[in-house]
Amino acid sequence: SIGSFSLGLVGGGIARSLTPAMQEREGREQGLALTYRLVDAERPDGRGFGVDDLPEVLTGAERFGLDGLNVTHPFKQAVVPLLDDLSEAAADLGAVNTVVLRDGKRVGHNTDTTGYAAALAAGLPDAPRDRVVLVGAGGAGVAVGYGLLAEGVGRLGVHDVDADRAHACVVRLAKRYGDHAVEVVTDLPGALAGADGLVNATPVGMHGHAGLPVPAELVRGDLWVSDVVYFPLETELVALARSRGCRVLPGGAMAVQQAVGAFELFTGRPADAERMQRHFREL
Ligand code: NAD
Repeated sequence: SIGSFSLGLVGGGIARSLTPAMQEREGREQGLALTYRLVDAERPDGRGFGVDDLPEVLTGAERFGLDGLNVTHPFKQAVVPLLDDLSEAAADLGAVNTVVLRDGKRVGHNTDTTGYAAALAAGLPDAPRDRVVLVGAGGAGVAVGYGLLAEGVGRLGVHDVDADRAHACVVRLAKRYGDHAVEVVTDLPGALAGADGLVNATPVGMHGHAGLPVPAELVRGDLWVSDVVYFPLETELVALARSRGCRVLPGGAMAVQQAVGAFELFTGRPADAERMQRHFREL
């Protein structure tokens, strides 16, 4: 019925996810009966599941009448062949984080990429974007790379300790934005010396992965610095960048904006991004 939504998050090790609280609260604020539950693939009771079980999980969600699912690690790629249709961003990325279940159809979207673009546009609206260096070319890195180029970055350098990953990311981004827009970076000091911005999309700085993704001396005060890591919200990189006078975009902004995008796809209603940001900070 109108105004009632049943949603869920499918992923591994998601017990502490803030997404249910964020989505349910925005639903309440809008007068919707919105419930959001976790479908955790890693359970201590031995009833966990893997990629091979994903078709069954989707069918189950449909049978229970769910209206949509968010999908996270390790299922973002595996879910793609199980869907009827994909948004342009999801097709570009070959990864889906939001599935809308409606009228017997499963449609995949990627609000990591649109969410990063929205976070950058809102958080660093007038930061120069001629040259940006992206460190980390895994799942988050590719999504963020699309977001950066969508927001007008002129030339994006991609660096990863795994050279194959950097190369694969560049090939994927170049398919949409052209060879001139993106290149592999091996000389990180050289690339950062001429850059306007630095984006971290490695897990370095997360709880359990302490440290900096780039040498401290490369973080100049006139760079803007964006981190996708949001556990903790203030990473070592963000703290160092602030101390040097850099403009910063911490990872919480992307986390909230991907949820804003998902809420809008699930409910067909605009979400209040500022209110969701406030709620997120309170959690
Ligand atoms: P991933 O494992 O797929 O990719 C990480 C990549 O970083 C790998 O290719 C690895 O080789 C590279 N790397 C690691 N250390 C490096 C270093 N020092 N220098 C250069 N490259 C290095 O992981 P992922 O799924 O892309 O996630 C990365 C991070 O992004 C995680 O901390 C995750 O929590 C975060 N994330 C945040 C959001 C958000 O909404 N803010 C969304 C998605 C992911």
